[in-house]
Amino acid sequence: MLTAGNILQLIREGTCRTRKELIEYTGLSRSTITDRVDRLIEAGYIHESGVASSGGGRPPSVLDIDSANRLVMVADLGAAHARVALTDLAARTLGEESVEMRIDLGPDLVLNWVVEGFQRLLDRAGRSADDVCGIGIDLPGSVDHKTGRVLRSFLMPGWDDHPIREVVRDSFDVPILVENDAKAMALGEWWWHWRDCPSLLLIKVSTGIGAGIVLDGRIYRGVEEAAGNIGHVRLRETDDRVCTCGSRGCVASMASGHALAADLGQASSRDVVRLVQAGDPTAIALTQEAGRTLGVVLATAVSLLNPGVLVLAGDMADTGEHYLTGIREIVYRRSLPYTTRNLDIVTTGLGDRAGIVGTAVMVMEHVLSPEEVDLALNHG
Ligand SMILES: [Zn+2]
Repeated sequence: MLTAGNILQLIREGTCRTRKELIEYTGLSRSTITDRVDRLIEAGYIHESGVASSGGGRPPSVLDIDSANRLVMVADLGAAHARVALTDLAARTLGEESVEMRIDLGPDLVLNWVVEGFQRLLDRAGRSADDVCGIGIDLPGSVDHKTGRVLRSFLMPGWDDHPIREVVRDSFDVPILVENDAKAMALGEWWWHWRDCPSLLLIKVSTGIGAGIVLDGRIYRGVEEAAGNIGHVRLRETDDRVCTCGSRGCVASMASGHALAADLGQASSRDVVRLVQAGDPTAIALTQEAGRTLGVVLATAVSLLNPGVLVLAGDMADTGEHYLTGIREIVYRRSLPYTTRNLDIVTTGLGDRAGIVGTAVMVMEHVLSPEEVDLALNHG
């Protein structure tokens, strides 16, 4: 039996736009459809608007998602920045705030800023916590999606197994999802620019290197939530550079923003970007070489997945075409032509907002899923 949650799904997908279409499509009785639709309208999930074209008689009203009613709050945490945003249920931003803050300050300080930031955004928008239907947080580490806890991260000492969801829920009692940043960014890019593309691979190169994979509109996480952990593929085990993970020869120890900064005598990947943008020839040459080094790993990934688009995100996306050029050169040269025939290799379209958008989309998909909608309706 199709529930109200299933009916909402049909409306969201655009499969059915009116009560009549719902009756015809589902085969359910008029009274059952009326009951389901009325409950969804009462709870503010959908509204009736406009008029559908019809062949005469009273024109039927169109059922549509009410995306302004409910709010989503998102925190995007990077190695050296933190950002909070308030969005509606179409992932449109209603307010945003960001600061330079190092994540290795630890969870107490960072999460305290996040919770206070959420409250400030609500106050500024004149909305209350009762309007919030879900919260998402993305951060630069491997996350157990079921518990919302950090499994391992070399950039976030002190966060391992920290009860992030429980801490935030003390202030906001709504569903809270935690996700790895590259995975969230991949979903954001897919949703914003590439929804016609069945598979997308996003590479984030900032301080470290991570990847996110979207297959058929869903984040692919892997058995141990470790899918996309390509920064620590060991390319040259005899290399003398030691990686943040303690091993030698990881691609991150040669091609990450951290590695480039060390080679150029700079403090951070942002400094590398500044040098490249200023036209420093050594910085440009090393950046392109780093792109080629990562390209070796990406050629394998592209051959395995055959994605429609490979998106470069993170600080290195801001080096103009330089990092991307290195990647393109090697991926096209080392892959079979028909694997890359329809492959776009591009820099991020959303820039530093990819994490915010992807995390908002993830929360939106969760709270509007049939299971969650039915659960919410049955609990009044
Ligand atoms: Zn490593």
